[in-house]
Amino acid sequence: MDGRTGLPVVGMVGAGQLARMTHQAAIPLGQSLRLLAEHADDGAALVAPDVVVGDYRSLADLRAFAVGCDAVTFDHEHVPNEHIAALEADGVNVHPSAAAAIHAQDKSVMRRRLTESGVPCPRWTTVGDAADLDTFAAEVGWPVVLKAARGGYDGKGVWVVGSAAEAAPVLASGTPLIVEEKVAIRRELAAVVARSAFGQGAAWPVVETVQRDGICVEVLAPAPALDPETAEQAQALALRVAADLGVTGVLAVELFETDAGLVVNELAMRPHNSAHWTIEGARTSQFEQHLRAVLDYPLGSTAPTAPVTVMVNLLGGPDDVEPKSIDERVHHCFAHWPDVKLHLYGKQFRPGRKVGHVTALGDDLETVRARARAAADYLMNGGAL
Ligand code: ADP
Repeated sequence: MDGRTGLPVVGMVGAGQLARMTHQAAIPLGQSLRLLAEHADDGAALVAPDVVVGDYRSLADLRAFAVGCDAVTFDHEHVPNEHIAALEADGVNVHPSAAAAIHAQDKSVMRRRLTESGVPCPRWTTVGDAADLDTFAAEVGWPVVLKAARGGYDGKGVWVVGSAAEAAPVLASGTPLIVEEKVAIRRELAAVVARSAFGQGAAWPVVETVQRDGICVEVLAPAPALDPETAEQAQALALRVAADLGVTGVLAVELFETDAGLVVNELAMRPHNSAHWTIEGARTSQFEQHLRAVLDYPLGSTAPTAPVTVMVNLLGGPDDVEPKSIDERVHHCFAHWPDVKLHLYGKQFRPGRKVGHVTALGDDLETVRARARAAADYLMNGGAL
């Protein structure tokens, strides 16, 4: 507890944009997030006063950080699982637990567990050598999708390979791999839920996540033209996975919509890009909900605040944009699209880097989407208005 306010202290390992937005959500709850940052200029470390700079790979640093925290949680999945377990053994209140978190850290553990519990997944197997891959590909057909079991993000660690020859360099890298059939994806969806330590669950509307080059560029909430029965199934599936795995906090279940129904792509156990829209688009944002869940507070309403919400990620554009000053572009953006809400993460702009997002709300998908896209495009790429 904070001795001055009597309110709990949540420690978040990692100080990127997810921590930055969680800190924003902590403030009205009377709290201030404590951060274990890699660098003093990480996005969240710039705006929260209680920052420890340290190494999330060091158990000593994690232990020192946890002292005085009522709950410890994460803004990424890279903390070694054995360190999470060690903190738990020390008596630290860690969310998600090591036993749950492993399913967001290791794709082979995740696939095995989900397959065992009857959750629909792409056909998959672990890959030891080229012979394993050939056997699998003979069964499902080339191309197949190789994935690093650990450490991938934004499509890094995912290789679509059309032949044994194409797979050879990936296999030779020595990275532990799984292989999946290449699913004929109609579109990608996400079912984001939260589960508290007590076991209360809450689901936001299922969204469509629009991807380009393995990166989510846009989120449409709710997923357009998704039939209510499938949407409900997806929410129920995500809540069941959260309960089965004992997840506490936010769980994002990334899904592929296929002709044969929904299959699970992967799990994230932290606030997730597919639910940034909830800051304005739902009564309770995923960031507030994550805090409620890890503190075992009752969860908040997930009801949408508008019929349609669209979030567009801001991916750094070229260096030679006009007008050159981002401040000037913000100025014009606000003048042109007063309804569009801006979130910048305090990061240096680099081409392709996720530096923020914008959100627009309204009644009509095409109108809302066009406004959000145009504002995002102008902010990153400038041009005439
Ligand atoms: P990351 O952990 O890097 O986010 P994902 O497992 O989410 O990697 O894969 C990134 C993207 O690759 C997905 O969003 C999807 O577009 C594509 N992809 C992943 N797995 C498959 C698959 N089995 N079949 C077809 N496309 C896939």
